[in-house]
Amino acid sequence: MTNLPIYFDYNATAPLRDTARGAMMAALENPGNASSIHSFGRSARKMIEDAREQVAKLVGAQPKQVVFNSGATEGNNTILRGFSQEPGGRVLVSAIEHSSILETVPHAQRIPVTPDGVVDLDTLHALIKGGPSPTLISVMLVNNETGVIQPVAEIAQIAREYGAITHCDAVQGAGRIPVDMNALNVDFLTLSSHKIGGPQGAGAIIMSDGTMACLPVPVMITGGGQEQRRRAGTENVAAIAGFGAAAQTAHKTLNDFAALKNKRDRLEQILCASSNRVRIFGTNVARVANTICLTIPGISAETLLMNLDLAGIAVSSGSACSSGTVKPSHVLLAMGAAHDAATSNLRFSIGWDTIDDEIDRFEKIWGDMAQRLRI
Ligand code: PMP
Repeated sequence: MTNLPIYFDYNATAPLRDTARGAMMAALENPGNASSIHSFGRSARKMIEDAREQVAKLVGAQPKQVVFNSGATEGNNTILRGFSQEPGGRVLVSAIEHSSILETVPHAQRIPVTPDGVVDLDTLHALIKGGPSPTLISVMLVNNETGVIQPVAEIAQIAREYGAITHCDAVQGAGRIPVDMNALNVDFLTLSSHKIGGPQGAGAIIMSDGTMACLPVPVMITGGGQEQRRRAGTENVAAIAGFGAAAQTAHKTLNDFAALKNKRDRLEQILCASSNRVRIFGTNVARVANTICLTIPGISAETLLMNLDLAGIAVSSGSACSSGTVKPSHVLLAMGAAHDAATSNLRFSIGWDTIDDEIDRFEKIWGDMAQRLRI
């Protein structure tokens, strides 16, 4: 057995895939600006257009529907800001969205979730009926803390009945479960490269075909003709090429991702075997195959994270530490978890490089730690 650190934090950022590294190295070797007409520029342009095809294919879209940007925080900001400025506009977002949504539209109404962490469709209906028709509804495809899959197609159907624009943050779903833009029937999807094995700092907005024809797509960064004037600024060719290659590999290996469930289940058994205080969220509903969200009430997330880090194991927590105090996870609070449970949660997220040997080593480390901390 080795002592190498163990990375169980794919939902925060996934390791760079070899295919992405290769595509990026090739792009970095070429000095061309994709807007230049000489051969170097044309090479750079080709890399971007190849990536556009690869990313489009991952979500069942056409290349012309893809707008590259710096990542999902920018994508979410672009759509949410772009469609929430209308006077009298009503915006609904789920209570478990990422902060790049919640902090961008702080006055949006929050759609509650069930104790299993699924957007509550009955309450959504009631909320909509209780006020003017919504202008925009935004619900994520997969929650980043729990891995729980959301009923986005059903939500889009409801939104269409009321004439609302729909947006879906698909960051934690793309490359993990099959995603089809047409089946989801949303107007906009946002994606992030580094969650699927591409580099950080690249992402995309995917517009539905119909939407492009009848809605002005919001533009947040102006000052250049790139991305058909939808996102100005010289393209980060290497990052986009890496994103494209990662998207292609993720698409080809969706079955392998689904098979991570076996490793995830084994990890869950190990975690639960240590103590009956360990509670895992979202086990009754559909989840992506790689994520475990758990709580051990009475032990702070900070203590658990620090002890695991000292033992060489990287995981994270939805409970954020700010100014020396641990803030409870807004996702777990929205699921009805007690304050204590929401401040003592851990997220394990595995991926394509996770091997059985790491899980064997974790079993031993966790067993010792559970005894020492009286878990
Ligand atoms: N949405 C979700 C659900 C996420 O998990 C993240 C990444 N933490 C983001 C948006 C932001 O993505 P990016 O890092 O590309 O800005």
